[in-house]
Amino acid sequence: METLAGMEGYAVYERSRRRVDGAEIALVRGPSGKSLWLSRALPGFHGDPLPNGGILCPLAPETAAALLKLLPELRPRRLPEGPSFGFGDRLGLATPGHVRAARGSRAFPVLAQQSVRENARTGRTFAEVLADAVFGALQEGYTGGFAADADHLKSIEDALEAAELGYTFFTCDPSDHVVPAEELPEKELRRRFDAIPKRAELEREYRDRTFEIKGLGRLHFSELDLARAAVKYLGAVEFAAEMYRALRERLPDGFDFELSVDETETPTSPLEHFFVVQELKKRDVELASLAPRFSGSLEKAVDYRGDLEVFRRDLRAHVAIAKALGGYRISLHSGSDKFSLYPLFAKEAEGLFHVKTAGTSYLVALEVVSRRAPELFREIYALSVERFPEDRATYHLTTDLSRVPDPSSLPDEELPKLLEEPDPRQVLHVAYGSVLRSPLGAELKKALLEFEEDYAVALEAHLGRHLEHLGVRG
Ligand SMILES: [Zn+2]
Repeated sequence: METLAGMEGYAVYERSRRRVDGAEIALVRGPSGKSLWLSRALPGFHGDPLPNGGILCPLAPETAAALLKLLPELRPRRLPEGPSFGFGDRLGLATPGHVRAARGSRAFPVLAQQSVRENARTGRTFAEVLADAVFGALQEGYTGGFAADADHLKSIEDALEAAELGYTFFTCDPSDHVVPAEELPEKELRRRFDAIPKRAELEREYRDRTFEIKGLGRLHFSELDLARAAVKYLGAVEFAAEMYRALRERLPDGFDFELSVDETETPTSPLEHFFVVQELKKRDVELASLAPRFSGSLEKAVDYRGDLEVFRRDLRAHVAIAKALGGYRISLHSGSDKFSLYPLFAKEAEGLFHVKTAGTSYLVALEVVSRRAPELFREIYALSVERFPEDRATYHLTTDLSRVPDPSSLPDEELPKLLEEPDPRQVLHVAYGSVLRSPLGAELKKALLEFEEDYAVALEAHLGRHLEHLGVRG
């Protein structure tokens, strides 16, 4: 890296250099980390003035907001046609590696993607997540466009906050409004269905009717099928429609809207998919993507565990319905490391797919640390094992703790291998919040800054492999 003229100890990220409004701009790295350097002060930028007239601004949301006014090519955009891929980043340091993986790919990248739950665990905000993605893209000189996904939104306020900040992609998670209708005795199910105000209308539209779906065949709603679908999902539909209307008011020029029902108890049936999207359409909701719950298990950080043929059958049905009802994407959540699934997923979805990843980029960071800073890795690992009983609570995992070795018994050169084993991987994966909120979090970030190039190279290889298996890179 070249030194910044007249600034000893400051190195410039060459690819970030720009000239705008008579000022030179670049991302620089100094003794206390990274900053944005401007050769002269411009409106909206606040930082430390330099003797030669320039300023150094912190990599904070306010600086990112000022930068986006100057450089529209770094503003989040809507998804173009075709496949798309979510590069979630829990550390705020992965975007340079993500950009390198995305560059050779035909899938449109989502570089800012975190859920409210992830932000709560890492102590970050939507504004910080977006700022980190913007600075990461600037660092690599990337101008190819990206989207920003406010993931798993469970409240309209959160959706509007993200909209205000410039997010373009909103993932509505209506799971709090889904009723587990399959568990209700028939009498209770009928009672609840009778209580739905629009019941007569629903009966006219669906009951004993058959819908012909090209590529799938016929969908038929019996009386009970309809009652079950309506009782289970109508509240969720109303909630999603309300969020959509609120967003449309705030963003009249448009946005991408995903409905995610991937965290429900039972797999989404074709009938349920059809019913939910028909009802959304009646409420003028236009979907960019739908994340169904698939059968088999999509556990975090490890490959798919289930019958590939069952997955294929489910997916075919969802794709056929998505095509018949408007051509939105089928979205795969917990989508990292599902290498055995990708070729099938890409083929069956015929390019109409979205994949979300997040935790896997944190695991790549730990892999770099296991090689470059083994002592720090040991501490992170020990804390993760200690926290596992509690941290696993909100995840569906079948981790076998007897296969999680004691790190103190392992020599340094064996440590990276832990990241290749499913059980230790999951233990490390779910503890990210505990690690990042502990003093180890700051040490981890410091180490990743020191070994920044290693991290970018490893991310490009790992996420690049995802994109290759999906058939959209290389
Ligand atoms: Zn999800």
